[in-house]
Amino acid sequence: MKDTYTYQIGNNLYINLTNRCSNRCTFCVRNGKETYEGYPLWLKGGEPTVEQVIAEIGDPKRFGEVVFCGFGEPTYRLDAMLEICDYVHERGGRTRVNTNGHGALIADMGAAEKLKGKLDGVNISLNASTKERYDALCRPQIEGAFEGMLAFARDCKKWGVNAWFSVVDCIGEEEIAACRALAAFIGIPLRVRPMIE
Ligand code: SF4
Repeated sequence: MKDTYTYQIGNNLYINLTNRCSNRCTFCVRNGKETYEGYPLWLKGGEPTVEQVIAEIGDPKRFGEVVFCGFGEPTYRLDAMLEICDYVHERGGRTRVNTNGHGALIADMGAAEKLKGKLDGVNISLNASTKERYDALCRPQIEGAFEGMLAFARDCKKWGVNAWFSVVDCIGEEEIAACRALAAFIGIPLRVRPMIE
């Protein structure tokens, strides 16, 4: 079966740039799965090039948004993602990334600054209100993951990047309220999304 570099859900086109990730979230859609929504998202032949992705996007105005989100953390391919963003914007499309917020830790210092003007939306998975809860739920594979994610969010705000936090609804009302308070403290919105079974 051919590797999936891009896949469409609803009116959006999703880009599966990498399978690398700095977390091992307990709720991740890839846990024990070969496919998502029928698309095989494990990249058995390696990560796609910018040219391969662009060839599949074609005219980005056909889609509501071009979203960087697959079986991995897109900021591992920061430069490729930014190049694809330029292609999409030059042709009148819109871009978003769903990220765990570790970009400045895994890709490059100043990652949030680099997203300005490239991503129309940045969805940062907050998922927990404390480091202890975050570590238990997201099982990070790098040092300083929780603090790094919060610093990335602060940097997005500082650089005027349109960013918001998201949490999955399975964490419970009390924890959602604590995440809402943390998001308010950082100064970016919080969105609660249903857990994908
Ligand atoms: S950060 Fe995203 S891709 Fe990585 S393990 Fe968590 S849910 Fe999965």
